[in-house]
Amino acid sequence: MIFTLHGIAVSSGIAIGHAHLLSHNSLEVEHYTLPKAFIVDEIARFDAALQATRREFAGLRSNRPSYAAAEFDAFLELHQMILDDPLLSIGPREMVEREHCNAEWAIKVQTDALAAQFDEFEDAYLRERQADVKQVAERLLKQLSGQPGHQPTHLRHDVETILVAHDLSPADMIQYKPQQFAAFITDAGSATSHTAIVARSLNTPCVVGLHHARELIREDDLLILDGEQGVLIVNPDKAILAEYRLLQSEWELERKKLKRLRTARANTLDGAVIELHANIEKPEDIIEARENGATGVGLFRSEFLFLNRDELPNEEEQFEAYRAAASGMNGQPVTIRTFDLGADKQIKGAERVASNPALGLRAIRLCLAEPQLFRTQLRALLRATHYGNVKILIPMLSCVSELNQTLQFIAATRQELDIEGIPYDRGVKIGGMIEIPAAALSLNVFARQLDFLSIGTNDLIQYTLAIDRTDEDVAHLYDPLHPAVLHLLSHVIGTANKLGVPISVCGEMAGELAYTRLFLGMGLRQFSMFSAQVPTIKQRVLTTSLREIGQLTQKIMRTDDPMKIRELLDKLND
Ligand code: PEP
Ligand code: MG
Repeated sequence: MIFTLHGIAVSSGIAIGHAHLLSHNSLEVEHYTLPKAFIVDEIARFDAALQATRREFAGLRSNRPSYAAAEFDAFLELHQMILDDPLLSIGPREMVEREHCNAEWAIKVQTDALAAQFDEFEDAYLRERQADVKQVAERLLKQLSGQPGHQPTHLRHDVETILVAHDLSPADMIQYKPQQFAAFITDAGSATSHTAIVARSLNTPCVVGLHHARELIREDDLLILDGEQGVLIVNPDKAILAEYRLLQSEWELERKKLKRLRTARANTLDGAVIELHANIEKPEDIIEARENGATGVGLFRSEFLFLNRDELPNEEEQFEAYRAAASGMNGQPVTIRTFDLGADKQIKGAERVASNPALGLRAIRLCLAEPQLFRTQLRALLRATHYGNVKILIPMLSCVSELNQTLQFIAATRQELDIEGIPYDRGVKIGGMIEIPAAALSLNVFARQLDFLSIGTNDLIQYTLAIDRTDEDVAHLYDPLHPAVLHLLSHVIGTANKLGVPISVCGEMAGELAYTRLFLGMGLRQFSMFSAQVPTIKQRVLTTSLREIGQLTQKIMRTDDPMKIRELLDKLND
């Protein structure tokens, strides 16, 4: 049956492929009471599901991927142990017998009891194993529902595959290799979550916030995903398929054409020089940055080096990663942000549970709370400055004491390297992210002590409007054109320019065509965005005259009616 779903467009492009469903952890089951006569059958149904799950594990073991044999064996062993725990293998049986409830409900109750035991552990790694308990229970429930195998071990390589998930963390997403999937779709999520940001950097179409896609789509369904419009078509007919194949090839042609701008300078019609930099997550991403004509890296989110692993990267490993990015850009600037861990990007085994993670121990707050970790990174970063044009960027500054402490850490690390005779760039530039309204409103104090500034619009909007950027329920309120946001942006850009401190924007707004002229009109001359977007923004810069957009930008800034702002913006972009 053909149907269409609408979500939040995150990464553009058109993908056509077959669905691959990723398991999710929701254990929502019904609860009902059975007549006494049905109890024996219900127990038999549970036993059969248990046996089938054991067989499923045996099958997984024999089909394990050779590149990850050790990890896979450890993972299977743990899941088999969980399945054999009396609370899961015997408990539900006894509960059905005793309470005459359905087997699904008994599994859910016993799973919650087992997960609660994990909650008691002091060790964060063990506490985290609750997720494994839920995954095992989900396998069992799938067997009961008669729909096992939602997660085939082998992807089909003969067709394009679109990954369908309830939700994906940034750590999940970063594991996918470019081109492994033709597209990603999730029920949860929002446009500026880190998951979305990684999807963009993989240059793969992605739509999030689809709510029930994971339930409605079946494995192998044919899907069309329009990442520009946020539309998903499930089981399209031949005519629709043909239409989208045409659109897909037109889109690819357009991208190829834009890539021809790679070596052109991004100057406005009246000759202003605009720098278009790339945001990267891993050193290898510089290949794509260079291919798209970025003239530097404006944001290297170094925290991605810390995800999906049991042991943290040591100084040497970090140094190699930063050096690779620095030398790969051949003297062009590479701005490396100290790790912005916490909130939605947590170190495995050291996850912190905070009631408001976005307002908690994140980014520079976490760096200062974990001096050993921070010191290791600073040593690696400073050492890498010797091999290219590396700048260091501090995330999430909110007050001057954080800045002072950070600068002291950097000074102490420099001293250490001096004593050890290790070379580094003595003129290394230190910059700060302006992404908390408090910092935006007290810009002078940061501008005085820093060599450059970079506006993180993703967080600046989140904190100004009190909208959790990862929460799809409030995603509709996340508004970059809110007059308060525009005033903060204009204030920060104008003040930095007046003080002569270089300023860029590295949040997702920098890569959105709709805002390019608005930013230029506010006085911005440096943008940093996901690599694939550089040619599109360059084309817009090349067709813009600063003289012509000045008045209209001023008018937008004087307007506080959101509808009127949008109207004027459309005019600016005409
Ligand atoms: C931002 O907040 O805009 C930003 C660039 O940082 P991140 O998205 O990694 O929080
Ligand atoms: Mg940020």
